[in-house]
Amino acid sequence: MILCDLHTHSLNSFDAENTVDEMCRAAIARGLEAIAVTDHCEAPFISCGEDCEFGSFDRQIPQSVRDAHQAAEKYKGKLRVLCGMELGEPMHDPEQTAHALGYGDFDFILASVHNLRGRDDFYFMDFSKVSVDEILREYFDELAETAAFPDFDSLAHLTYPLRYIVERTGVYPDLSPYTGQIENIFKILIKNQKALEINVSGLFKPMNTTLPDLPLLRLYRELGGRLITVGTDAHTAAMVGRGLEDGLSAAREAGFDSYAVYQSHTPHLIPIK
Ligand SMILES: [Zn+2]
Ligand SMILES: [Zn+2]
Repeated sequence: MILCDLHTHSLNSFDAENTVDEMCRAAIARGLEAIAVTDHCEAPFISCGEDCEFGSFDRQIPQSVRDAHQAAEKYKGKLRVLCGMELGEPMHDPEQTAHALGYGDFDFILASVHNLRGRDDFYFMDFSKVSVDEILREYFDELAETAAFPDFDSLAHLTYPLRYIVERTGVYPDLSPYTGQIENIFKILIKNQKALEINVSGLFKPMNTTLPDLPLLRLYRELGGRLITVGTDAHTAAMVGRGLEDGLSAAREAGFDSYAVYQSHTPHLIPIK
């Protein structure tokens, strides 16, 4: 099966460890056909420059774009290297988001929500003090806003807060109270012809499933969802490509017979065998 990893982070992300070149070599060693370099850019934090806890996006993303283009040239014929970005919370700051989209000529934009308005990153939340229900409701509301944003290709890790909720509380929350909110997100994606990401990073974490999981993939499919992308969210070269087959098995089980790879924001469908 042709494997493409559409979610990877290089050293140009504050929380990742390897160069684009090292990520590419790992991808080739794993037999991948393509990777997208999708370094972090958190829209509401762009304007804090070098003082930002994530580092300066004005410095990191143009560098990520240069590295991706350079690798694309270097590995031509061996690996397709797509130039991407993981754009966090575009709706919190439309002006800075427009600035971020001008950093380069991107093939692929992932949109994500890591931070809720007026709250700490999920990573820092103390789930014995905040209400999980309240957080999930706010999260899915903000994700619906993000899904309606026009300038992205695939919506990343739909159930992101569960990574941390399950890790801290040991419980995988029942998502049935949020079905209406999630259906709404799926309907927006389908109407706007955006893809849903199957993020396989959860397979290596206590939640032990893809983001979103199989029942939600089935729901997306039943509602008419046809476009999906798969990504590892690798933050090290060692994780590039790991778990993609499992993500694609879940997709197949949910009824998908293809997944998308984006070049110049255009989806190209790859059969799932
Ligand atoms: Zn993310
Ligand atoms: Zn990511």
